[in-house]
Amino acid sequence: MLDFVNLEADLDQEERMIRDTAREFVEEHVKPDIGEHFENGTFPKELIDEMGELGFYAPNLEGYGSPNVSETAYGLLMQELEAGDSGLRSMASVQGALVMYPIHAYGSEEQKEEWLPAMGRGEAIGCFGLTEPEHGSNPTAMETYAERDGDGYVLNGSKTWITNSPISDVAIVWARDRSAEDTPVRGFLVETDRDGVSTNKIDEKLSLRASITGEIGLNNVHVPEENVLPGVEGMKGPLSCLTQARYGIAWGAIGAARDCFEEARQYAKDRDQFGGPIGRFQLQQRKLAEMGTQITLAQLLAYRLAELKERGEMRPQHVSMSKRNNVRMARDQSRIAREMLGGNGITTDYSPMRHMANMETVYTYEGTHDIHTLVLGEEFTGIAAYQ
Ligand code: FAD
Repeated sequence: MLDFVNLEADLDQEERMIRDTAREFVEEHVKPDIGEHFENGTFPKELIDEMGELGFYAPNLEGYGSPNVSETAYGLLMQELEAGDSGLRSMASVQGALVMYPIHAYGSEEQKEEWLPAMGRGEAIGCFGLTEPEHGSNPTAMETYAERDGDGYVLNGSKTWITNSPISDVAIVWARDRSAEDTPVRGFLVETDRDGVSTNKIDEKLSLRASITGEIGLNNVHVPEENVLPGVEGMKGPLSCLTQARYGIAWGAIGAARDCFEEARQYAKDRDQFGGPIGRFQLQQRKLAEMGTQITLAQLLAYRLAELKERGEMRPQHVSMSKRNNVRMARDQSRIAREMLGGNGITTDYSPMRHMANMETVYTYEGTHDIHTLVLGEEFTGIAAYQ
């Protein structure tokens, strides 16, 4: 596996163990039939429990059954899962960084005890409802709202593009609290079997096909007061979760690119044209040289990001640069790998085109490439250019 500057040398035993466990899991349980899942638009649901048993959901959290592994170990885990498929990494990212993290950071003791151990084991599945049909890049303008109703709240609105919503037990729904002054955004734990909740599946995707995506409809849904996340108010709630998930994506995208590189490297050695392997042609070597270089640069950024996170010095802007760069890199390089595989490259028998199609989603969700560009633009000029 490509590790050109020997980053492995700095890993401790636990980090190597987690990486190897995930790599083996992907080789044995994901790669054999992920192409078929992609074609059929299905998620390998049978892996959900096993991923829980192996500790793949938020192992970087502390307590409630989570082992509190290093941020590097968590990143390596995301990298290996996404080498399998972005749908698999998305499942683990949503469960861990977008649902378990906010319960851990902002939940009551009862909420933590009810959800964290069960979600860590994969017995309960969660989803994160922020995006709405009319509000994607600008979630601050969300229309979903909550109003006081006796001992709790009534929720109304709709969320869309929600990873895992059709298979979730609980959704974290971000909504404006109309009963409070300034209508702050608050997080509500909404069990999906409550009256008035619908979670229709979105079927027409041509990207991230091995992942279940849906809507969340909320029609006069009553939730008790104890389902509100008590520890956060305002956009800081959802945005802080996104920072955690984007951290994992910055690592994960490297896995997808690395898988494309390895597939192309092998193909270049195996495929004969004009009397010998295509890997002897300078044009093909140039592609591998560029791919290997870009992957290595992305790895360096991810490892540094992990160090900053471990020290408590990672800022959302650091994550924006890493997500933006590493996903664009994977998007570009998966296409080059696809090209190297000729006609075979457009099939699900090989991984590059599947990764390439997945990257269209990864480039768009968790803050589009454009939005992260504007975050960096603001960082470097002090001028916000969003509006
Ligand atoms: P828009 O915001 O309408 O953007 C359209 C285009 O305009 C983009 O190119 C964008 O970059 C550009 N644009 C927007 N504003 C600006 C600006 N100020 N300056 C320049 N260009 C701009 N959301 C969740 O809440 N939970 C999930 O689990 C989840 N999972 C997803 C899974 C999939 C498969 C997909 C595709 C999306 C998912 N999303 C999820 C939603 C995702 O986060 C949004 O699609 C994303 O934020 C972009 O919003 P939008 O699609 O409405 O695009």
